[in-house]
Amino acid sequence: LDLKGSDLEKLADLGQGNGGSVEKVKHVPTGTIMAKKSVLIDAKSSVRKQILRELDIMHECNSEYIISCYGSFIEDPNVCTCIEFMDKGSFDGIYKSYGALPVEVVGRVAMSVLEGLTYLYDVHRIIHRDIKPSNILFNSEGQIKLCDFGVSGELINSIAHTFVGTSVYMSPERIQGADYSVKSDVWSLGISLIELALGAFPFTDPPDDDDLSDLEEYAGNQQKTPTHRDSFVVSHKTAKRASKRRSKLEFQPDGGLTTMSIIELMHQIVQEPSPRLPEGKFPKEAEELVDACLLKRPEDREAPKSLLYDLGTVEQAAALFELIGAKSLLIAGRTRTALMKPSQCIIPKGSQP
Ligand code: ATP
Ligand code: MG
Repeated sequence: LDLKGSDLEKLADLGQGNGGSVEKVKHVPTGTIMAKKSVLIDAKSSVRKQILRELDIMHECNSEYIISCYGSFIEDPNVCTCIEFMDKGSFDGIYKSYGALPVEVVGRVAMSVLEGLTYLYDVHRIIHRDIKPSNILFNSEGQIKLCDFGVSGELINSIAHTFVGTSVYMSPERIQGADYSVKSDVWSLGISLIELALGAFPFTDPPDDDDLSDLEEYAGNQQKTPTHRDSFVVSHKTAKRASKRRSKLEFQPDGGLTTMSIIELMHQIVQEPSPRLPEGKFPKEAEELVDACLLKRPEDREAPKSLLYDLGTVEQAAALFELIGAKSLLIAGRTRTALMKPSQCIIPKGSQP
């Protein structure tokens, strides 16, 4: 397919991230609906061309767990990539409107991401580098696919300076500047799984169980969360608590953390025990899978393939996380008025969604 910007008709805005923006478009000559991602590359045109060559690898990706790609082109000063449109969007949007996801769905996300990572690494020797809910997409056929993986080293270099340079999904070893491996993606998966299972970012304190005013304030704060800044989201509530604990934390008017506090948070990821699912609220297998993803030392943490292969835990988890198809997530469009406690969001074993 010879893609040209002039053949694309914009249908809607799908979202905006730190690195670029995504639109729903129609490729007029073929009538194909696509998602067009534009990334501003503030560099020489030779760099843009190099990026384009590197993005070609995306064409060769052929897996049901990886987003397919129609092609890339330059629209000065942007590099644009047209990818498969996923009509249910990304999992950050899904949990922000649906609330905490049923553990079966979270299990399916885990399996799909592990499959996707295994494919990228085994077949193309690619490490994803940016696993987080906004890069895990869902469609009404019930497919779960990864997007935004690090195919282009040049692209990563070019946008690196526009990023804050860190993300709260980063593994301790990556924060410390040690060697980055596919196991770092496993850490990011662990953080993402807790986020989906609780309906809140794990470094945010959950509200006290029996204090309702607390809960309402918490729900309000969650809605205020700016989606495109999810890298550094901490609610006001946590902010206040944290500032009681550590007087050094500083906050911007929008509730975001200042640079000093980002450093604090990074320090926390490296120094303090890993986040966990609250004990006893989820199946044991789910707790174990998350704990396995969030082992601090990369030497102790398994690679995606062995996590998948380690049937002792994962197959049991698979049985538990019984595939429930797209149906239960189709309700994702429905907005919850209040945030439910995680314990109320779990579908008991054996019950139908
Ligand atoms: P970051 O820039 O930090 O990676 P992000 O992943 O949210 O953040 P983008 O990658 O620019 O930012 O994506 C913006 C939004 O566009 C995503 O959150 C997702 O909801 C939507 N989106 C991206 N690709 C697709 C797609 N293929 N189909 C449907 N929606 C998509
Ligand atoms: Mg993205």
